[in-house]
Amino acid sequence: MIELKNVSKTYGKGQLRLQALSDISFQLQKGEILGIIGRSGAGKSTLIRCVNLLEIPDQGQVIINNTDITGLKGKKLEEQRKKIGMIFQHFNLLTSRTIFDNIALPMELAGKSKKEIREKVEELLELVGIADKARQYPANLSGGQKQRVAIARALANDPHLLLCDEATSALDPATTKSILELLQRINERLKITILIITHEMEVVKSICHSVAIIDKGKLMVKGTVQEILSDQ
Ligand code: ADP
Ligand code: ADP
Repeated sequence: MIELKNVSKTYGKGQLRLQALSDISFQLQKGEILGIIGRSGAGKSTLIRCVNLLEIPDQGQVIINNTDITGLKGKKLEEQRKKIGMIFQHFNLLTSRTIFDNIALPMELAGKSKKEIREKVEELLELVGIADKARQYPANLSGGQKQRVAIARALANDPHLLLCDEATSALDPATTKSILELLQRINERLKITILIITHEMEVVKSICHSVAIIDKGKLMVKGTVQEILSDQ
């Protein structure tokens, strides 16, 4: 359902020209959890920004559900963006909004009704296990709880794809485990496709179905977790 075809991206010009991604191709099936692993600077964030339409590849195509999204503009681009949820290392919650209002924001931007928003936020609060935190502000929550809010917000507009950019890197091992379990539950229950970017092998081993390793902007290998990591 998601395909990258020969995607390349360079930054800068002349002497400063840097090839961040070089001829990357792979497919991601509906319901799959793919882990992309690589060292710092390998090109992981650039790759996720190309899938998320924040960055336009210099070459190649990103195809989601048979639509080439690389050339989209305006309304069509916004429509596609709404179908992709994203979570980050530092949660990126709005400090002046309550937990409820943080989760509601994407639905407000999409023009949904108050009733629809309230019902959906309540459902999401339950799903991520923080129903008792609705009226709190982000500052009063632990890191794990903040990431649960971010996950709920990412799911607000029923995306078909969830992008996780180093989503557990700021969390301790026990909290990391609980967040990974939540992502797994969401994958199973909502049949949502998940793309996880990480430098942590453990994250990939614990929940990913398949794994791709990138190094210096190149895709070194992609396969099932058993195939790639069996000897580690
Ligand atoms: P990773 O997420 O694996 O750490 P990135 O995708 O952030 O890797 O970066 C890949 C390469 O591209 C790095 O060498 C980085 O310095 C460079 N890079 C990333 N973003 C930019 C940018 N906006 N401008 C210039 N160079 C960038
Ligand atoms: P913390 O962020 O405090 O380190 P967690 O992120 O593990 O802890 O949990 C945050 C909240 O989610 C807690 O209120 C906890 O009771 C609840 N919780 C944890 N795991 C689950 C789960 N699998 N299902 C539902 N609720 C959960």
